[in-house]
Amino acid sequence: MLSQGLRRTAALLTSRALGRRQLSARIVDESYVEVQPAARGSGSAAALTFPAVWLRDNCRCPSCFHSSSQSRQLDWNHFDPNVRPLALHMDNDKQQLHVRWSDEHESSYALDWLQHRSFDGRSQSKYLDEFYRPRTKHWAGAEFERIAQRFNYDQVMSEDEPLQQWLQALAVYGVALLNGAPPDKAVVRHLAERVGFIRRTTYGEEFIVQAKPGAKNYAYLSLPLPLHTDLPYYEYKPSVNILHCLVQTQSPGGSNLLVDAFHIADRLRREHPDDFERLARTLVDWNDIGSEDGHEFHNIWRAPVICLDAAGEYTRINHSVPQRDSHFNVPLEQVLPWYRSYARFVQLARDDAYSFKTQPGDVLTFNNIRLLHGRTGYDDTEQNSRYIVGAYLDWDIVYSRLRVLKKRLTSNSTATTSTSSSSSSPSPSPSI
Ligand SMILES: [Zn+2]
Repeated sequence: MLSQGLRRTAALLTSRALGRRQLSARIVDESYVEVQPAARGSGSAAALTFPAVWLRDNCRCPSCFHSSSQSRQLDWNHFDPNVRPLALHMDNDKQQLHVRWSDEHESSYALDWLQHRSFDGRSQSKYLDEFYRPRTKHWAGAEFERIAQRFNYDQVMSEDEPLQQWLQALAVYGVALLNGAPPDKAVVRHLAERVGFIRRTTYGEEFIVQAKPGAKNYAYLSLPLPLHTDLPYYEYKPSVNILHCLVQTQSPGGSNLLVDAFHIADRLRREHPDDFERLARTLVDWNDIGSEDGHEFHNIWRAPVICLDAAGEYTRINHSVPQRDSHFNVPLEQVLPWYRSYARFVQLARDDAYSFKTQPGDVLTFNNIRLLHGRTGYDDTEQNSRYIVGAYLDWDIVYSRLRVLKKRLTSNSTATTSTSSSSSSPSPSPSI
């Protein structure tokens, strides 16, 4: 079926099928395929250039792609990285590109599918910032009330849109609050399971933050709890904290402290670049030694305070005074400068921390590997106590849920739009 429209040359192929949309495609330098989508309205659509090898690697035919698992099943033991397109055909009726290859295979690609995978830098940024992981917005403590969004617990539990908005706010700002949660210890579990599943740690699944006599963990004292990251000593850190306030102390203390450590890192990078570099490069030993339910543990993870990815973007922040190991495995001459830089980071964070008190029914959710959190001290007595139930989620689970919701909500709104404007876009014939 491909034989008629095929060309062996790099000639431009055009078609006037349907008379309303012209598509064309050509081979460039034997290694690229350039697709020219039809002009929309008065402007002309930009040509899309695809590496031929990538197209061949992503053939959608049943022998190359397993559609029910959405997985590539092409035989990479015999894959030719120098594969060349021999001929192209643009099917205007089906809005498809057909390619015949030097390895004797033939492939078809829907124009929509190609457009969503454009190699254009702006399209790629849009995909990465909107779909892969929402781009973060960093904030100073003084901006907290402006950026901290609040959602109703029951709505988040029962409707997809508030659920998506909550997770989106959490991803962008690193913090979001829910209110109106019932006085039930299972709230954090319900919420975690609404997203995916609880992340278990050494300290169990749900944990209770309440002053305990003879506490084995620093968090279980009523003393002030300085700003910190939870579990910095794990390579795979639990990354979202969920803290449900059931009882709040009437004493003046017991306030939450939060600071956006990405903002603090931004300031260091700008104002004290040497400190920034040191904190981003020096490996620190974080540790936790103890026992829980009769099981002894000894956790260690070495990582800088400010962790960066290959593009220089923050991936996570590690900070904890109690959970920093006395082993510090760096060259001797790096120690003194590191202490000065770290002290500056800690002071900037402390000065910027925002203090507020959650009330019964509030659920505070925040990014554990971005924000630092703490608590002011309080007087714990039988008449004046504080009872918080916590749990963790992992970002992998949160982002995954967010993507599923975005796809679902987008396709719902598209469905609604196309039903309501059926006259302008008769399905299934393409009329974009
Ligand atoms: Zn194939």
